[in-house]
Amino acid sequence: MKPKTIIEPFKIKSVEPIRFTTREEREKFLKDAGYNAFLLHADDVLIDLLTDSGTSAMSAKQWAGIMDGDESYAGSKSFYRFESVVRNITGMKFIIPTHQGRAAEKILFTLVGGAGKYIPNNSHFDTTRANVEFSGAEAVDLLNEVGKHPEIRADFKGNMDIEKLEAFIKEKGVENIPLCMITVTNNSGGGQPVSMQNIRETKEVCKKYNIPLFLDACRFAENAYFIKLREKGYENKTPLEIAQEMFSYADGATMSAKKDALVNIGGFLALNDEQLAMNSRNLLIVTEGFPTYGGLAGRDLEAVAQGLLEIVDESYLQYRIRSVAYLGEKLVAAGVPIIEPPGGHAIYIDAKRFLPDIPAEQFPGQSIVAELYLEGGIRAVEIGSVMFGKYDKNGKFIPSMMELVRLAVPRRVYTQSHIDYLIEVIVEVYKNRNKLKGYKITYEAPMLRHFTARFEPIN
Ligand SMILES: *Cc1c(COP(=O)(O)O)cnc(C)c1O
Repeated sequence: MKPKTIIEPFKIKSVEPIRFTTREEREKFLKDAGYNAFLLHADDVLIDLLTDSGTSAMSAKQWAGIMDGDESYAGSKSFYRFESVVRNITGMKFIIPTHQGRAAEKILFTLVGGAGKYIPNNSHFDTTRANVEFSGAEAVDLLNEVGKHPEIRADFKGNMDIEKLEAFIKEKGVENIPLCMITVTNNSGGGQPVSMQNIRETKEVCKKYNIPLFLDACRFAENAYFIKLREKGYENKTPLEIAQEMFSYADGATMSAKKDALVNIGGFLALNDEQLAMNSRNLLIVTEGFPTYGGLAGRDLEAVAQGLLEIVDESYLQYRIRSVAYLGEKLVAAGVPIIEPPGGHAIYIDAKRFLPDIPAEQFPGQSIVAELYLEGGIRAVEIGSVMFGKYDKNGKFIPSMMELVRLAVPRRVYTQSHIDYLIEVIVEVYKNRNKLKGYKITYEAPMLRHFTARFEPIN
């Protein structure tokens, strides 16, 4: 028989209790946290969907690698194992470990960024944007039109707009574009995949103008599996083969191992350019550590290497993509507006359609995040005008393109009954949506304000 039920492709060896709280307790916790889910104590959260970053459950083999890690300062065997696994997937010549993705971004954009420079991307992730802008350069999103419409169902809503990219290069000048990036899958735009054809076409444009193409590769395996499911000619390829082809079009990559390497900390910068690799390593020594550990312990490198072998396993990816799709399908069936089709690592509630009466400057996404916690102890994250809203020179509010609430699913952590409970809570909040209120910011930091901002409900 061909079973219809896709089961978790693992059994559970070690468990961690979760803590139940009452609504009254949660009201107090949320108020104390300035209504910012980032400021809650994790222990007061029942189901934590704040992020899929660094929240994966490691396998027995990864834990064994933790014991087996070689902590030599230089030339650790764990580094060489890490390097060979990353090289096999990416095909890149120079593999530079970093403590997480943003450290790789910081090094890269310190070297290639700067005032007057532009970095095009399908959509920059928030830390990527911050690192580009911190260098003085401008981060520009050139997402394909369909990717901007949450209600349109399409296979590859993470695609780069190739025509816009070429026009952009002509407008700003090749000399001002040190590299072009593609984020797979497109985290800020709903975890939507990018097709192989689009990566190839982006590469062709970049090649024509001699601009290096980089992948923000955090979810390369999820993207590879979507290509297998949706793109003609890839049905019979393994996720690893597809990933290898994706990387073959790139000249470099930044990676947060906290996503598709199934670990709690780690990242890397992979490069083909020798001079850039040398400069990166020199900067790495100042900011992260010696080039064979880069801000990590030897044991972390072991865990990353093992995680990268496990992430391209087809039964894992089938379960992963299916369990997120299951959550999405149930929400759609209950009328809850989400970005369709479901992405790889998360479901994104469309807060504009969920709460059409709360304007962007009162943060409808924030309001949903607060209510999900109060109703069911669920922690989600706003990806909208709290995260991406800006002010112009006159202090006028510029909203984010989309108002979303992300429910990121940690890898191998929750079972189907957790997801069923989650669905129940979200549907209940949706039924009572007329009672939700807008929020105002009472404190904000000058950069990445969503992490530390404080809010108050508007009455
Ligand atoms: C998480 C993430 C990063 C940054 O990685 P960290 O490990 O959190 O520093 C960069 N880009 C994308 C697309 C991400 O999802």
